[in-house]
Amino acid sequence: MSFVEKLRVKPGKKCDLSNWKTDSTPGAKDEAAAEKATLEYVRELEKYQYKLHAEGRRSVLIVLQGMDASGKDGVVRHVMSGFDPLGCNVTAFKAPTVEELAHDFLWRIHRAIPARGDVGVFNRSHYEDVLVVRVHDLVPKKEWSKRYEHINAFESLLAAGGTTVLKFYLHIGRAEQKRRLIERLDDPIKRWKFNARDIDERELWKEYRTAYEDVLTRCSTEESPWFVIPADHKWYRDHAISRILVETFARLDPEIPEPELDVKRLRARLVDGPARGQ
Ligand code: ATP
Ligand code: MG
Repeated sequence: MSFVEKLRVKPGKKCDLSNWKTDSTPGAKDEAAAEKATLEYVRELEKYQYKLHAEGRRSVLIVLQGMDASGKDGVVRHVMSGFDPLGCNVTAFKAPTVEELAHDFLWRIHRAIPARGDVGVFNRSHYEDVLVVRVHDLVPKKEWSKRYEHINAFESLLAAGGTTVLKFYLHIGRAEQKRRLIERLDDPIKRWKFNARDIDERELWKEYRTAYEDVLTRCSTEESPWFVIPADHKWYRDHAISRILVETFARLDPEIPEPELDVKRLRARLVDGPARGQ
């Protein structure tokens, strides 16, 4: 079974996260074999991205969501390392600025959507507007509860315009998050990443889980699926995401265009042409 099938949230089905074990490794034999395969997938992604860029007709958007320390930055570092920065943009979405708040919630998102031929990566995304916003009552329920439909319509618009949207929920366990946060605090090299707010958010674990389950249930569609990635093991997280990306690119099958050029004549001009300045 493909990883897409294995880890995709089936559209229209209620998603219960307790069915997905955070330390499971579905489809992977062992760590060493998976890591080796991941390196190959990253190399394949490099070739696919080159073709996507050359083709210049379609784009791919990778959305990363998950609790603090779930590994969003790690995925960007490891899985996206094969992408040529010329055709790849990473955007991290933080709390909205005054200007962003003066617009609708999708305004800042739409501006960051990858152009044709490009790959875009979102570290957090428009989904924060039904996650942190919901958990902290930042806007009234009357308002955020309509956003699932707005998001589905928006992503459908993107799909119609040639953007494939893939959404990854990095599913980390509470105990593993604790371990990673303590490590951040203890390690002077990592301490700068620690934010006291992370502890406040951790105390709202249940609320976030419910909010995530609603996102996964309501916004996983045939065109723009959500994937639940068991993320306690970093090696599995990178393996599963790179594999899903390879499977998706294979389906998209981007092709290097054949320009209508008279290669023979152009070549002759270059070979036989006058030297510069003559
Ligand atoms: P890490 O996982 O490594 O801690 P991070 O993504 O949490 O990285 P931070 O700079 O620590 O990065 O946090 C960004 C913060 O911005 C998050 O707490 C997130 O919930 C918040 N944020 C993002 N989008 C919105 C939004 N639309 N409304 C309110 N807060 C938002
Ligand atoms: Mg954080």
